[in-house]
Amino acid sequence: MNQVMLVTGGSRGIGAATARLGAAAGYGVCVNYRGNREAAEALAEEIVAAGGRAIAVQADVADEGEVVRLFERVDRELGAVTALVNNAGILEQQCRVADMDAARLTRLLAVNVTGSFLCAREAIRRMSTAQGGNGGAIVNLSSVAARVGAPNEYVDYAATKGAVDTFTLGLAREVADEGIRVNAVRPGIIYTDIHASGGEPGRVDRLKDSVPMRRGGEAEEVARAILWLLSDNASYTTGTFIDVTGGR
Ligand code: NAP
Repeated sequence: MNQVMLVTGGSRGIGAATARLGAAAGYGVCVNYRGNREAAEALAEEIVAAGGRAIAVQADVADEGEVVRLFERVDRELGAVTALVNNAGILEQQCRVADMDAARLTRLLAVNVTGSFLCAREAIRRMSTAQGGNGGAIVNLSSVAARVGAPNEYVDYAATKGAVDTFTLGLAREVADEGIRVNAVRPGIIYTDIHASGGEPGRVDRLKDSVPMRRGGEAEEVARAILWLLSDNASYTTGTFIDVTGGR
């Protein structure tokens, strides 16, 4: 069967690591991105140069029309999606709840929650055996923040990841008899540029001693868990979570 992976937010970090491992495992890969076209296209070219199949496609996952067009482009250029990685996620400048405004909350919810729902909807329409598809698998990127709440930093972000957890549970049960498995990975503190987006590029090094393994994680260590959940090795696994946190 033609295996096709769509990684949202694949231009860097955990998404880029997942796209690389996916291509090496034989998936045709769509590297979705919102802003960094250069990085996404360079990654797709790297995969193709190594003998794989890949395309880079711009789309904001929070925009319904752009999500629909993203999946249609994947249909045309790689084939229908069989593996969706709902990885695109944002956080905002660290601050306390007392200082959060509605615009910030709306942005976070739109990308982290609405974006995951919209992409899952398009994937289900293609994967569901009840709609003529051949099944598939979805992995959502949650966070350890869903469990610990991220006080004084990003309670809003943590709450969107709590929503991703509940979404994972509900959707997994909704489509379990339609050939679709839905799981989530909850990374801990991983070396990527997301921390700079929150205003603290050195965050992982500041917090790493509080991790039982006494180090931050690498993007590829998260990607390996994602690949396992997508693979047939996880054929009886749905509606569950892998924490990739060094014990945190
Ligand atoms: P990152 O380095 O900041 O990368 C985020 C990616 O998402 C980028 O490729 C970015 O693309 C893309 N993106 C952002 N908004 C988008 C949108 N609206 N539509 C499409 N793409 C969008 O993040 P990361 O650290 O790899 O995190 C990946 C996922 O893991 C996120 O869901 C994050 O919440 C979760 N996570 C990360 C950590 C961690 O410590 N790093 C911990 C727990 C959970 P452009 O740059 O091209 O716009």
